[in-house]
Amino acid sequence: MQILDGKKTARELEKKLKEKVLLLKETYGRAPKLYVVLVGDNPASLSYVKSKEKACLRTGIEGKTIKLPNTISENDLLKVIKDLNNDDTVDGFIVQLPLPKHIDENTILNAVSSFKDVDGLSLLSAGKVMNRQDGFTPATPKGVMMLLEHYNIKLKGMHAVVVGRSNIVGSPMAKLLLNKDATVTICHRYTTELGFYTKQADIIVVATGVVNLITADMVKKGAIVVDVGINRVDGKIVGDVDYENVKEKTSFITPVPGGVGPMTISALIHNTVEAYMAKMENK
Ligand code: NDP
Repeated sequence: MQILDGKKTARELEKKLKEKVLLLKETYGRAPKLYVVLVGDNPASLSYVKSKEKACLRTGIEGKTIKLPNTISENDLLKVIKDLNNDDTVDGFIVQLPLPKHIDENTILNAVSSFKDVDGLSLLSAGKVMNRQDGFTPATPKGVMMLLEHYNIKLKGMHAVVVGRSNIVGSPMAKLLLNKDATVTICHRYTTELGFYTKQADIIVVATGVVNLITADMVKKGAIVVDVGINRVDGKIVGDVDYENVKEKTSFITPVPGGVGPMTISALIHNTVEAYMAKMENK
């Protein structure tokens, strides 16, 4: 069994990216700039935003956070987004989810310019992933693909089982695996006998938020297991996989924490540099 070390991989990729950013800065006169729009003070969101700020510092990207009150109206938030869309010095920005209940997430995400949508969560970005066109891929599935690539895992011909079908993780994940010529099965809450499917998988990617959903009896010997889940149990962060019992059956497995989480942040930073380069090259 080998650990797919997301933290180490993210740092290695960021080191390379930092060198590229330095060169880009020399060529174009400024660093790429990423804004994070944070509404309210959800503790998990605050912690993710902090991690993103640190990753910007590590890679030489200019990172800024716009903090807005929980009470902001949808219209006022749309105005903030419009300003960021029109600000030529901003290369990419994301709106940290979740948003307060009185704000419609889709309305907000679809207002982000497709040139700056580095979280890849607008309809247009999602459509581009579905159509295999160039565009921004959501950070978590992109991070998973970067991690698999780093470990030289060839997906062609594999049977991939994705558990979870959200717009942020499961659905784009399945499409990215399919684009790499895996045969993909998507499971969800209403899948009966989940283990029947996971047991056939060469690679399982699980993103449900259900602690210990994947147990050792549900995994084929030698399978690859990627655990996207982030759950807080008794003050500890755990994934969706019964890690201690599953790991021995696998050829590769991601730990939680230290697996997909750091890769997600790294993928966001990579998307930001891509947005910046596309803008500068088209000027
Ligand atoms: P959502 O709640 O949006 O989606 C969860 C998905 O899991 C749904 O498709 C749901 O099915 C499915 N599901 C729920 N229960 C079961 C079950 N018992 N069996 C099979 N499928 C089930 O969550 P997200 O996709 O946003 O996130 C998933 C997890 O990943 C969370 O723990 C989240 O914190 C974590 N996450 C981690 C990130 C990282 O960087 N590591 C980034 C983003 C998320 P249905 O559609 O039928 O309801």
